[in-house]
Amino acid sequence: MAKGGGEMGEWKAHIMATYGSLFPEGRLPLSVGPGWRDLVEDLLAVIYGKRKRWQDVVEIRESLLAEGEELTGRYGWVVDYFEENPTDPLEGFKVVQVKEKFGDLRFYVEGGEGTFDGVIALAEMVSARTCIQCGAPARSMLLPSGWPRTLCPEHAEEVGAVSSEEWHEEE
Ligand SMILES: [Zn+2]
Repeated sequence: MAKGGGEMGEWKAHIMATYGSLFPEGRLPLSVGPGWRDLVEDLLAVIYGKRKRWQDVVEIRESLLAEGEELTGRYGWVVDYFEENPTDPLEGFKVVQVKEKFGDLRFYVEGGEGTFDGVIALAEMVSARTCIQCGAPARSMLLPSGWPRTLCPEHAEEVGAVSSEEWHEEE
């Protein structure tokens, strides 16, 4: 994986340029393999999109009020939206760490009042079926060191990882 470092560096630069506001400390605490790149980026895009939506509706409300429109009838949804989303869903929000643990993705955040718990749990579940090296369908395997890692058959073979059933047989 000599090429991996450069690719990951390019990816991290892309994330900071696109979703930098989710990392207010200017640090990107991300350490996962390239196979989870799409998964992590989709998750960031969903979270980021939620704020974009909030900012868009704030702007819509301001311009409607500036034009003297009543927020009823065809604009009633604006009031409904703020009833459901009274504050910026990303107020005080930050991504604390993105890493692999026991073979699965772990995506730790602060703030957000649980708004993103569901989508984060979903991404973590998908990671358990996604090769951390290449993104192909995968399952949890055991490395020769005994540590779990989610790998496709090809990458499992490459590093000598086995399924837990095979591991039991070898004991
Ligand atoms: Zn793979």
